[in-house]
Amino acid sequence: MQVPDKKMTKPADTFVDCEICGTQEWSLVYRGPVRDGTYGNQHDGVEVAICGECGVERLEEPSCKDDAFYESGNYREHIDQGLEAQSYYQAHDHLQIHALNTIYPHSLRDLTIADIGCGAGSFLDHVRGLAKTAIAIEPAAHFREHLSSKGYEAYPYSSVAIRDHRESVDFATSFQVIEHVLNPREFLADIRSLLKPNGTLLISTPNREDILMELLPEEFRRFFYRVVHRWYFDQRSLARCAREAGFIIEKTHYVHRYPMANALHWLRDKRPMGNTAIPSIADTVDSFWKSYLEEHGRADTLFMRLRSTSTLTQTGDRK
Ligand SMILES: [Zn+2]
Repeated sequence: MQVPDKKMTKPADTFVDCEICGTQEWSLVYRGPVRDGTYGNQHDGVEVAICGECGVERLEEPSCKDDAFYESGNYREHIDQGLEAQSYYQAHDHLQIHALNTIYPHSLRDLTIADIGCGAGSFLDHVRGLAKTAIAIEPAAHFREHLSSKGYEAYPYSSVAIRDHRESVDFATSFQVIEHVLNPREFLADIRSLLKPNGTLLISTPNREDILMELLPEEFRRFFYRVVHRWYFDQRSLARCAREAGFIIEKTHYVHRYPMANALHWLRDKRPMGNTAIPSIADTVDSFWKSYLEEHGRADTLFMRLRSTSTLTQTGDRK
């Protein structure tokens, strides 16, 4: 079964209180194979449920990966990217244009910046000449050594960086990380503790409203859901999580990273072909396709720009 019928809406007992909103109102949205590593490797019989209160979707906990998986080299091996910084750059340097476009026209000049879950530092390398200080937060020890050797202040988690940088960061970024973590609300709250009052956080995550989720509800879902992603957000559920962590939503952007040929290959072959072109499709068609999906919230990636609230509570904490 991939898309449950109405009688099968209750998920397994492993779905307990929602880490974001605290309620226990889970409904099953999917049960079946999910991606387990590179394309073709699957983990069968996995459940995904949606929270009836905050709207987040969650993979069943027994199939998820813990922090140790990311701290060691296991995650990079799992996705077949290798442990070398060079292979990280090969996979990620070309994607930085999307983050930079989303930041534009905001300048990072002379700011203290932090990138949370920065890998080997592709994004930081693109902006370090502008920033006054660049803080690299990355749980994988092998990347952290590399980041330190390049002159970045490196920490495994925001909760550790807080010791040296509480309320000192002007602009934080975290790209394609929140979907992996154990508790997204705490993850954002820790970043908020790093930020100055009214500091900015730009986050991105896969968009659950990706048009292929609708066009191919069976084949694309078993690719979209994966054991390394615990959380699946749309705009509403990500905004709710950010508000719970003490942020104000400033702007939502959608970015579609693939040409129209990617969707056509999916529809024809039922498999991912990345950026493989179809020669007869002109660039102008791709340009329209991407713009259309981004305008209508059906693109593959969801970006959100958040601002740290600055109101002081009676105990002196910001809320
Ligand atoms: Zn919830």
